[in-house]
Amino acid sequence: MRFKKGLAISALALAGALVLSGCTDSGASNDAVPVEEAPEFAAGTTMAALAEAGEITIGTKFDQPLFGLRGADGDPVGFDVEIGKLIAAKLGIAPDKIKWTETVSANREPFIQNGQVDIVVATYTINDTRKQVVSFAGPYYSAGQDLLVLAGNTDITGPEDLTDQPVCTVSGSTSEKNIAEFTTNIIATDTYSNCLGPLRSGEVVAVTTDNVILAGIADQNEGEFEVVNNPFTEEPYGIGLALDDTEFRTFINDVLEESYDDGTWVDAWESTAGKVLDTPKPPAVDRY
Ligand code: GLU
Repeated sequence: MRFKKGLAISALALAGALVLSGCTDSGASNDAVPVEEAPEFAAGTTMAALAEAGEITIGTKFDQPLFGLRGADGDPVGFDVEIGKLIAAKLGIAPDKIKWTETVSANREPFIQNGQVDIVVATYTINDTRKQVVSFAGPYYSAGQDLLVLAGNTDITGPEDLTDQPVCTVSGSTSEKNIAEFTTNIIATDTYSNCLGPLRSGEVVAVTTDNVILAGIADQNEGEFEVVNNPFTEEPYGIGLALDDTEFRTFINDVLEESYDDGTWVDAWESTAGKVLDTPKPPAVDRY
C-alpha cells in the first residue's frame, strides 16, 4: 500500500469544495455501471431469485472510510459499496434497489447464515475457518494487517515493538487473532472507530487492523494518526455468501473478472479508495 502524494492538499481542497457545494463528506460514488436489463438466469438459482425480486440486501461496514462509510443520505459509500453495486447491476438491480445493512466484523458469518443479508462485502478476509460456514467469491483486493499510532510515535515500527503494551482491535476479526501472537494486552470492541478514543487518550498505544482501513482513518483525521506501514499478514478480501451456493459464487467470480477486464473495477477503486491510495492490480480470483 502506498499513500498518494499531495494528499493533505487534495483533502483540504476537497473539503473546501464540499463546504461550498453544501455537501457533507460522504465520499464519491461511481454510478456509471450499466444495470443489465432483464438478465436471464437458470430457474432455481439465487441469481434468478434476486433478479425476480428486483432487490438485494448487502452487508457492509458503515464506519470505514474508503471502503464502507455511511454518507449523509444514510447509504454507505466506498470501494466495497462499489463492488456490491457492480454485482447488483449484473443481476439487473439498480443502486437504489440495494438494501444496505451494517455488518460489523463479528456478525458477518451469522448474518449470511441466517439470511439477513444476501452477500457481505465488508473488508472480509477469506480464510479456511470462515469457509467452514460461508462461501467466498473473490478475492477482489488484497490488504495486510498493520498498526495505527499517534502521529509522531516513532517507538512502534512493527508488531514486535508492542512488547505486551495495550492495543485496540475488533472482536471477530482476523486482526484480533493475528495480534495475539505479539501481545496479550488486547482491548477488543465492535468497530475500529470505537478504538480511536482509547488511542487518543493513551489507553492503548496502537490500533490494529488492515492497512487500508487504517489509511482511511488516518485520512479522515488528518495529522492526528499515522499508519506504521509495515504490514505483517495477507488479507485477501472476498464476497461472503451462503455456504456451498456454488452457482452464485461462480456468477460473482465471473462479474469480478469481467470488471477487471472492462475497467469498472479500476473505476470503482479510483472513485473511492483511489482518492487516497495508489491503484493496485486486482488479484486473481480463486475458484476453489
Ligand atoms: N479483514 C479482516 C477481517 O475480515 C479485518 C478487517 C475487518 O474486521 O473487517 O477480519
